[in-house]
Amino acid sequence: MSSIGKVKVPYEGNESARILFVGESPGGTEEDEGRPFVGVSGQLLRSVIHRHGFSDDQVFFANLIQLRPVGDRFQSIVGTNELDEGLDSLYSLIDRMKPNVIGALGNWPMYYLTGTHGKGGPGSGIGRWRGSILRNSNHPGIKVVSTYHPAYIARNRSDYPIFDTDIKRILAEGNFPEFNYKERRFIIDPQEGELLEWVNKLCKADWLAIDIESVKGSTHILCIAFSPSPDISVCLPYRETNFENQAAISAILASQSKKIFHNGGAFDIPMLQLNGHEVKNYAFDTMAAQHVMWIELPKSLDFLTSIYTREPYYKTTGRAEIPSDNKSWSRKTNRTELYKYCCKDTACTFEVFEELRSELSQMPSSYGRILSFEMRSYRVAAGISATGMPVDKIRRARIKKTLMARWAVMQYILNGSCGYKLNVNSPKAVPQVLYDKDKMNLPRRKNRFGKVTADEDAIVASIAWVRKKMEKMQPGSPAYKYWIIRRNVLKLILVIRGIRKILSSYINIKLSEDDRLRSVYKITGTATGRWANSKWFDGSGCNAQTFPRDPVEIKNYDDVPELQPIIDKFMKEDSEGEDAE
Ligand code: URA
Repeated sequence: MSSIGKVKVPYEGNESARILFVGESPGGTEEDEGRPFVGVSGQLLRSVIHRHGFSDDQVFFANLIQLRPVGDRFQSIVGTNELDEGLDSLYSLIDRMKPNVIGALGNWPMYYLTGTHGKGGPGSGIGRWRGSILRNSNHPGIKVVSTYHPAYIARNRSDYPIFDTDIKRILAEGNFPEFNYKERRFIIDPQEGELLEWVNKLCKADWLAIDIESVKGSTHILCIAFSPSPDISVCLPYRETNFENQAAISAILASQSKKIFHNGGAFDIPMLQLNGHEVKNYAFDTMAAQHVMWIELPKSLDFLTSIYTREPYYKTTGRAEIPSDNKSWSRKTNRTELYKYCCKDTACTFEVFEELRSELSQMPSSYGRILSFEMRSYRVAAGISATGMPVDKIRRARIKKTLMARWAVMQYILNGSCGYKLNVNSPKAVPQVLYDKDKMNLPRRKNRFGKVTADEDAIVASIAWVRKKMEKMQPGSPAYKYWIIRRNVLKLILVIRGIRKILSSYINIKLSEDDRLRSVYKITGTATGRWANSKWFDGSGCNAQTFPRDPVEIKNYDDVPELQPIIDKFMKEDSEGEDAE
């Protein structure tokens, strides 16, 4: 059976328009009406275009293919002759129109118009590249700006503001053909006289954006960059034995210039402090400003860069993965790439700062007050983070022993009920026990993605289902007893999971060298203003805001001699790393 429909839905619009929107393929409504972008997602796109003051005849609407894939599954037509023909016709349209900008709607249009895709290959990566001003593969002089597919936005309304902003950018880019990328000068590892000159300039700068790069899961800094303006960055490699650089870094950080960081209060500044550098005049944080002004939007520097600058997405260098703004690098990363990356970060932070500051000045004064409250809170949070908590190691050992003994006993009963050793955290073994016909044969539970699951919700629902079934049975009957075993298996899985979670998240954790437990308090971590918390920079500690509140009653079953061999055997296996975390 063909995977493509037969009805051809033509392009629509004014070929002399300077803006070309390219979607994937027509949907059902488009097929029925013989016009592109008239279904739910098309109407959404058109409404945004109109709201920004543009009429339909100021733009042109096209698709990668004019035929509808069966079930709207675009992936199923990738590589077909029909898609190749559709692309040829689209490329001829671009040859004729030579628009100033093409708005690529979704992953596939982005891929076929720019060759760009994410780590998952063609058909991925829109979240990173959206908003970037890229070059068209066939006509490098034509700009392509991608955004989410409107059908995705119709299903995921929380990303609507981002879509709206991207469409606004696409419409604005239609006014001129130039790329207007910002020219930036990067000074990497200046020496002697040049270094002194830069230290002098940077210390005297009115505002200074700063960023560090570090080794993943450690407090080891690799380099630091400073930008006194969006077009200049100076990067100093960080080596403890490079005394010139160390002195330069300390002097710049202690200077009177007003410092700008992105999440500096929770990352860069404490990291610098741990390495012996104090930062004076921390005056603006771009993450905090975004958190205060646009709380419903993402706060990462790559997102802010995509909104407030013309710099295309650049977090692809080095390890190709920069997970968040607490970015860290492997020791093997190519250093020149790393230094350039760090320079770009500070330059972009400066540019983002200018835009956010200007927006802030147009907002009610309460926003400024809240931002200054957050800036002060950073210090409080950093103090709590650095102080950490003392840990009573004797009590910790007792709690561990109690929990292990409890786990041993529960696991023994569970294994006995199942007839074999069941790992309650196994995503394969637990659904098998619960749902397989020759095992408990309970109704299969699925998660919201339609995948069979034995997560906590599924088990709680299964317990309720079993309980209902038992209500109709004669208590004490053989069938009733049989169902008691099933109910107990479900309960045991939950209880053992709970014990293992406490052990792995709060008991078996690494402490700092001084035996204190540290974690990072993040004042911008949630949309509600509540602080978030995570492990300490070196991977030790834990999320100390979510300690279980229920007390653990110390009980080692010493008074039940029958259980001792079971517990001893389990402990032995644990110390041999057989079963426990
Ligand atoms: N309508 C179209 O014509 N194309 C799309 O990609 C989405 C809706």
